[in-house]
Amino acid sequence: MDEMWNKGSETLDRESIKRIQLRRLRLAVRRSYERVPFYRSALKGRGLHPEDIMSLDDLKRIPMVSKIDLRENYPFGLLAVPREACVRVHASSGTTGKPTLVMYTREDIRNWTELMCRCLFMSGLRRGDIFQVTPGYGLFTGGLGFHYGGEALGATVIPTGTGNTERQVNLMRDLGTTMIAGIASYALHIAEVASEMGIDVKKDLQVRKGIFGAEAWSDSIMRKISDIWDMDCHDIYGMSEMYGPGVGCSCSYGEGLHIWEDHFIVEIVDPSTGEPVGPEEEGEVVLTSLTKTAMPMLRFRTRDVSKILDAGRCDCGRTHLRIARVKGRCDDAFSINGVKVFPGQVEHVLMKYPEVGMNYQLVIEKVGALDQLTVLVEAGVALAESHPSLESALFRELRTVLGFQPRVRVLPPMSIERSEGKAKRVLDLRKK
Ligand SMILES: [Zn+2]
Repeated sequence: MDEMWNKGSETLDRESIKRIQLRRLRLAVRRSYERVPFYRSALKGRGLHPEDIMSLDDLKRIPMVSKIDLRENYPFGLLAVPREACVRVHASSGTTGKPTLVMYTREDIRNWTELMCRCLFMSGLRRGDIFQVTPGYGLFTGGLGFHYGGEALGATVIPTGTGNTERQVNLMRDLGTTMIAGIASYALHIAEVASEMGIDVKKDLQVRKGIFGAEAWSDSIMRKISDIWDMDCHDIYGMSEMYGPGVGCSCSYGEGLHIWEDHFIVEIVDPSTGEPVGPEEEGEVVLTSLTKTAMPMLRFRTRDVSKILDAGRCDCGRTHLRIARVKGRCDDAFSINGVKVFPGQVEHVLMKYPEVGMNYQLVIEKVGALDQLTVLVEAGVALAESHPSLESALFRELRTVLGFQPRVRVLPPMSIERSEGKAKRVLDLRKK
């Protein structure tokens, strides 16, 4: 059995988890009904009163909420406490127009920190580690989430935030950073910059542990990061509406990510109908927060695509259910002549080839009446400019996976534009 941050909570038996969930759910529904007019009218609209929630099964009678509801209730409309009781504000990323705000009481920050400690500990962080936090600080929840967790756990936290990659590398070398937090594509970017600086991340740095989140990534990209850095990689899941990162994390044993079921109820629904689907069936992740006090979230539609794994008890000893690594966003999937494609499917194929470099881009355009997908791939540093046999190997495998014929172009290393934030993987020229 794994060492744990909070063994009592992390190994609760199924009956205890269910009992805690029901008690907390009933409380969350009652508080939402009594204190938030938005929830009161939504529940009344379904003819529901908090007393009607008698079992966990009744959860599905509660209407779902979305990011749009958060935006429409900007800024304080979803608060279940007086504004004065809030000690922190964050905003979620990646939206247009008004941001979606989330607020925290002192208790919320405490709970979030506890969950971050569980995830960080699960990923190998220990007292005495030097922990470099590369996600952005500020309104984005990434930086401060990892920061508070790392401090509470007793690590030495370096709050670099995003960007200035050369300085990141220098600090890693000079301070002897042992673990980093960030987004997966940024870990690849740091390795490239380090190599340009004449630094071998394996030999010259001591970073051997990493925790990554905030974008969909595949098993194969995880292996690639592991290889390049000689690093033990973990995947963390979360979003600002559920505190931030820390909703769940991957352990070192089984597949997928454990979700902290004493703080969240996870459902998977069909994104078009909203109907729950069964274990091992893919759909949209819907989360209910059980402990948030400032802004309760009942059945929040995350738009993330995953599935609940029907995998039995995990060898790590944790009893909390596992979901598959998030495959993408419901909105990220694009359609090529009616065939649905997730960027992750393509990535999975590309990253299996050691000759493929770290960056790729999917370009979608109209050719006559038809959609055309072109997969641009950078060759690894060792390869010559173009590589016809790699191109045809990738073409054959992608054709099998996708069920149609994409174009594949292998480009010289470093020829696709870099970004220090989330990678721009899909360029859809049909919309212009
Ligand atoms: Zn496990």
